[in-house]
Amino acid sequence: MSFLSPRLLRIKSSPTIAAATRASELKAAGRDVIGLANGEPDFNTPEHIKNAAIEALRKDETKYTPVNGIVALRRAVCEKFKRENNIEYKVDQIAVGCGSKQIFYNAFAATLAPGDEVIVPAPYWVSYPDMVLLCDGVPVLVDCPAANGFRLQPEALERAITPKTRWLIINSPNNPSGAVYTRADLRAIADVLLRHRHVWVITDDIYEHLVYNGAKFVTMAEVEPRLSERTLTVNGVSKGYCMTGWRVGFAGGPRSLIDAMTIVQSQTSTHTSTISQWASVAALEGSMDFVRQNNNILQERRDLVVSMLNQANGLHCAKPEGTFYAYPSCSGVIGRHTPEGKEINADQDFLDYLLESEGVMAVAGTVFGLAPHFRISYAISTDVLEDACRRIQRACGMLS
Ligand code: PLP
Repeated sequence: MSFLSPRLLRIKSSPTIAAATRASELKAAGRDVIGLANGEPDFNTPEHIKNAAIEALRKDETKYTPVNGIVALRRAVCEKFKRENNIEYKVDQIAVGCGSKQIFYNAFAATLAPGDEVIVPAPYWVSYPDMVLLCDGVPVLVDCPAANGFRLQPEALERAITPKTRWLIINSPNNPSGAVYTRADLRAIADVLLRHRHVWVITDDIYEHLVYNGAKFVTMAEVEPRLSERTLTVNGVSKGYCMTGWRVGFAGGPRSLIDAMTIVQSQTSTHTSTISQWASVAALEGSMDFVRQNNNILQERRDLVVSMLNQANGLHCAKPEGTFYAYPSCSGVIGRHTPEGKEINADQDFLDYLLESEGVMAVAGTVFGLAPHFRISYAISTDVLEDACRRIQRACGMLS
């Protein structure tokens, strides 16, 4: 009999974290490797946020806090939701956890019974299906191909709903495709959900602030307030505020759900770091000028990646409207051969070849549920990014 629980045997560790770690290891071993697997901005946390953390330490804000976080942070989160998203939550409708990742886990652990289904539009953030499995649920994957802008279509949602559906996950801007749902997209999805009253929505808005070319971020509870009583709006400071390591995520939702999630967290991590919570108050209440500056840089890099990859033989890259990822298709290299005579049969073969031949590490679309694609993170300095794209072009040019 295995020492490990059957629950653990259903899941794997995060393949994106594994790829980023592997790139660092190869670099440390002296190989000329460019890692394009980063899931975090390469910008530092702004000074005013770091100063708030130092101030919190000086004031000895180092003790336990309420499980759901300090009231000052939950108030700042309510203000944020009102100011930026036009959604009204009360302080007791806010959960704060160790990153939005923990918020997702809490929600699934608090609500899923064995066999309950969660609709996951693909391509998806790698953690959704495994978290659902860890909580005894069943992920129901729905293809959202490039032809549909990588966005869930209402007809596809309608087909995926069964009496066992508990949740639909909407992630916009989307990791890995960079797709941003418009108000009309969410309206059409809301119309389906209004007909299926047993289905709840969890929106992953963690990339909210990383949108380009005037793309407008909107979230479900704003578009259809009648769904608010079954919507969990998840967000956090990790990506937009360059605070991945601080581990602060938050959500607004119906009080009964927030209370249930709080019970899960009270028996696991208790709460996220007190110092990080004070830093997050400063983040949410402070100036957002740095976001505009960062986005200008990210947009330039995005344009560079899209233009250079579209010049690579066999690749096609749609222009992402948000995040710091691009999700090119590599269907044009499938069936070709490397200079060593190896046939490329899948996106992972292509990425193995890229790493071997040019030292470029990206992540295969297969792990995000939509192949043959690969994900490139452009949260990396522009000159290194340009070098990486040139290497990819060269590798594609060598295929026959
Ligand atoms: N959601 C998406 C789509 C992500 O890409 C990530 C991180 O990569 C997260 C959630 C988790 O972020 P955090 O736990 O740092 O808030």
